[in-house]
Amino acid sequence: MRVFIGVGHGGRDPGAVSQGFKEKDINLDIALMLKSELEKYGVTAIVSRTSDSSQALYQKINVANMSKSDLALDVHTNAGGGTGFEAYVPLYRDSCQSLRLAKLIEEEIQKTGQRSRGIKTRKNASGYDYFGFLKSVNCPRAILECAFIDSGDINKINTPQKRMLIAKAYARGIVRYFGNKEE
Ligand SMILES: [Zn+2]
Repeated sequence: MRVFIGVGHGGRDPGAVSQGFKEKDINLDIALMLKSELEKYGVTAIVSRTSDSSQALYQKINVANMSKSDLALDVHTNAGGGTGFEAYVPLYRDSCQSLRLAKLIEEEIQKTGQRSRGIKTRKNASGYDYFGFLKSVNCPRAILECAFIDSGDINKINTPQKRMLIAKAYARGIVRYFGNKEE
């Protein structure tokens, strides 16, 4: 089994910045922890970046599709004031499997004590998926927002130990997804 892990933002694009934290750094930390967790389960993981570098979205999508992965995630941290985990899944192509994947990850995140704001979809003006990652990646996929960087939620992700809890929850959700295909 092979998983593509997109790391949100990077390089010139820090993503959300608040309370002394940059989203790009939190995303990279969680993504690398997730990769090593998955490898413990014998799952191959490909990360879109392993250092603080920029990557255009179309390049990330190309790498994801070339990797012939069984599923793809894009790792992000939320902003805008709120609390909780949130996931986005596609409206079209593999939408059922993507929803199943996101639900399993959500369940594992909730076991860590983090609440969930839900699993969502978002349309653009033409009625297609708003997020390019969801629109153009060719396997079951989800965008994961572990917590908010700009609220008290930062306390869920402000140390490596806490970020490891998130990464382990993501990994358990993925392993369950592979283990119970007909669930
Ligand atoms: Zn982001």
